Amino acid sequence: MLEFDIVPAPRRSAEERAALLGDPGFGRVFTDHMVTIRYADTKGWYDARLVPFGPLSLSPATAALHYGQEIFEGLKAYAMPDGGVALFRPEANARRLNATAVRLAMPELPEELFLRAVWTLVDADRDWVPTRPGQSLYLRPFMIATDPFLGVRPSSEYLFAVIASPAGSYFAGGAKPVTVWVSEDYSRAAPGGTGAVKTAANYAASLLAQAQAQEAGCDQVVFLDAVEKRWIEESGSMNLFFVYDDGGVPLLVTPPLNGSILPGVTRDSVLRLAEHLGYGVAERPYSQAEWRADAESGKLRETFACGTGVVITSIGTARTKDGEFTIAGATEGPVTSTIRDAIVGIQRGLAEDPFGWSRRRP
Ligand SMILES: *Cc1c(COP(=O)(O)O)cnc(C)c1O
Repeated sequence: MLEFDIVPAPRRSAEERAALLGDPGFGRVFTDHMVTIRYADTKGWYDARLVPFGPLSLSPATAALHYGQEIFEGLKAYAMPDGGVALFRPEANARRLNATAVRLAMPELPEELFLRAVWTLVDADRDWVPTRPGQSLYLRPFMIATDPFLGVRPSSEYLFAVIASPAGSYFAGGAKPVTVWVSEDYSRAAPGGTGAVKTAANYAASLLAQAQAQEAGCDQVVFLDAVEKRWIEESGSMNLFFVYDDGGVPLLVTPPLNGSILPGVTRDSVLRLAEHLGYGVAERPYSQAEWRADAESGKLRETFACGTGVVITSIGTARTKDGEFTIAGATEGPVTSTIRDAIVGIQRGLAEDPFGWSRRRP
């Protein structure tokens, strides 16, 4: 078994830490340590370390910088009411990293090693897991191709690393419904492409659409399918749910995992919790036209987006080139709140965990 070499970092003072944890925002503040593990075709995974957080030294010819062979994950550590710490379904992230690795012609990391890497960092930087409501420690595992070679082929060497960043709520203002821009000019992902895996290139391709959304006064972009420009796929970094009333029982509709939609851990958790709550669920293609028509007629009750960062965000208004429409008066609906409370309750150890998703340490 690969053991981690521990190189302790100089720790920042309790005062400095408290000041940074007061209002960490998202992705700006980092903890004292990081984990790195190397890979070579000839050796497999080797050289696992916990080291001080700091710059990586890379050749300017590093493959990841030129051809985008980079993949990542995102998960959170939560402070528990009893003083412990918990990860939410980290095995799902380990599995998805490997599904992504396969698509990008990169080596798979044993799930056991992924989990130990994440826990090694969380254990070392436990003091950085923030404890205020809504806060968490965001964990960013990632892998880059490190061959110093400009030829186009899969790298023979890789670096896997985990960094950690204390986080408040993703959107300032918390549960306020957001406005989204439906992008008709740009696609995020195409059939046969990389939309279903977590790779940097998908985000690079989404930034201009996101900028356009912001210019249009919107918080987030919603992407349509690349072929017909008709079907709703997902938001920039969140999966989407449309809530109907089916004879007094909520029905949650979400687009199916068609190969260009990212299979969110939160999406999967919402589907399973919804069934547990006695709601109906339907994974089926959902068109932009249906969204607008049902919002305008009032048949559609709620729309929300979900992902590790925001957990659950209500969508109040959708804006397109042909004007905008609101969903249920742009106020958050009861199903959105119920689902959020259920999932947040499990993540933070405030509610029963019927599926055994929470991985706790004292
Ligand atoms: C990460 C991500 C999501 C959400 O996945 P979670 O596992 O729920 O955090 C949704 N869409 C895209 C494009 C993503 O990259």
